[in-house]
Amino acid sequence: MDNSQNWIDRGLAHVAGTYGRYPLVASSGKGCWLTDIDGKKYLDFLAGVAVNNLGHCHPDIVKALQDQAGRLLHCSNFYHIPQQIELAEMLCEHSFGDRVFFCNSGAEANEAALKLVRKYSLDNHGDDRFEIITAENSFHGRTIATISATNQEKICNGFGPLLPGFKFVPFGDIEAIKTAISSKTCAIMLEPIQGEGGINIPPAGYLQAVRELCDQNELLLIFDEVQVGLGRTGKLFAYQHDGVEPDVMTLAKALAAGPPIGAMVTREKYATALGPGTHGSTFGGNPLLAAAAVAAMKVFINGDVLKNSVTMGDYLRTRLEQLQTKYSFVAQVRGRGLMVGMELTIEGGEIVKTALNRGLLINCTAGKILRFVPPLIVTTGEVDQMIEILDGIFKEL
Ligand SMILES: *Cc1c(COP(=O)(O)O)cnc(C)c1O
Repeated sequence: MDNSQNWIDRGLAHVAGTYGRYPLVASSGKGCWLTDIDGKKYLDFLAGVAVNNLGHCHPDIVKALQDQAGRLLHCSNFYHIPQQIELAEMLCEHSFGDRVFFCNSGAEANEAALKLVRKYSLDNHGDDRFEIITAENSFHGRTIATISATNQEKICNGFGPLLPGFKFVPFGDIEAIKTAISSKTCAIMLEPIQGEGGINIPPAGYLQAVRELCDQNELLLIFDEVQVGLGRTGKLFAYQHDGVEPDVMTLAKALAAGPPIGAMVTREKYATALGPGTHGSTFGGNPLLAAAAVAAMKVFINGDVLKNSVTMGDYLRTRLEQLQTKYSFVAQVRGRGLMVGMELTIEGGEIVKTALNRGLLINCTAGKILRFVPPLIVTTGEVDQMIEILDGIFKEL
């Protein structure tokens, strides 16, 4: 078998260079641990960027995939698919939603949401009401529509002309939304907690106030829960912390806790805007991936991982706050459940590289925010191990 360096060279030669990759060649995973091709083990506090919420190779997911793989891999959405129906029922039973559109990624879920709100608005308010208000430093995906939905220079640069019809406001500023709403506005799209933007939690009352503005102005509220959904913040969906419900919610990342699947959840009233032939996806809600998502949802709904997300989130933040008191370059620790960020006064890139060398996977977002999104099954012992490695790195800075 090839060693790491061979794989890295082959990858650099023929795989598109859209990622600056670290020198780790992934081989296998179990729980919170990833093993590379040379047998080195890494404590995984990135979890595929909040995808492996049940840890690597959760036995229920593996079994669901194995069972379904031998029965039916794919079937067109021209026909009814039991696994997809079961998943839709589970998502509706445990959320505000009545109907679910399935796709394969977060960006696609957001595309579906954007199409839905425009079509609903056209059907109900006429053709001059298409603008969508989104937040600065938001992240909604990498397609043309979803990059148009963020104003982040580093994401949009070079791909213009972008899709028109977006207005940007500072995240957490309700007055800015009031000012931005016009006769052209049809929807507001927000992450309940910004992920890529730096684990930004809005001020208390913000999401409720946005909901009220939507109600007063007959606007649809879209919550992008692609990163924060499925137990990450300690509840099944992040909006459940705030006592507000969106009209549309998008999911992907952890929905099948590994395998790729996305979903847009909405209310009956709005879902009717997307009738037969208006939208679709060949693989969306495919039996194999839907079976995996049903297995993942069963574990999320059972509740133990949600509880662990709360207790381990508290523990992780407490331990990180202890580091904050020790090191002056740690500005703030923030988060909810196991969605945790540590803001530094210095760039975090080198810390991430050193951590990798020492067997710890974390990442740095928005330049100076170390992000910790471990599997929701993480233990105190694993948090302690992570802190020990981080402490060792901080000591040398
Ligand atoms: C990751 C992410 C997306 C994009 O998901 P993809 O599956 O990469 O298309 C969209 N929104 C948020 C909040 C995300 O974190």
